[in-house]
Amino acid sequence: MRLRPSSLVCLQAVQLMSDYLENALSRGDRRRLERHLEQCTHCNLYLQQMRSTIAASGSVAPDDLAPEALDDLVEIYRAFREETRE
Ligand SMILES: [Zn+2]
Repeated sequence: MRLRPSSLVCLQAVQLMSDYLENALSRGDRRRLERHLEQCTHCNLYLQQMRSTIAASGSVAPDDLAPEALDDLVEIYRAFREETRE
């Protein structure tokens, strides 16, 4: 599967999110991610989903989350593309 550049930015954002939620990001990365979140509905939605997952399970280990997180993101994108097509 090939990703467009904009999707690649989002994948990078997603990879920062688990650290973001644990306040483990450097100030620069944090600002970069927040700037992206301001203009990206998809990542906002994803961050919300991640937050509720953490709220439900207590905590999420980044190592456990990473592969599934990327799968989920692909699903979210597919859903968005289908929505905007109609
Ligand atoms: Zn994004």
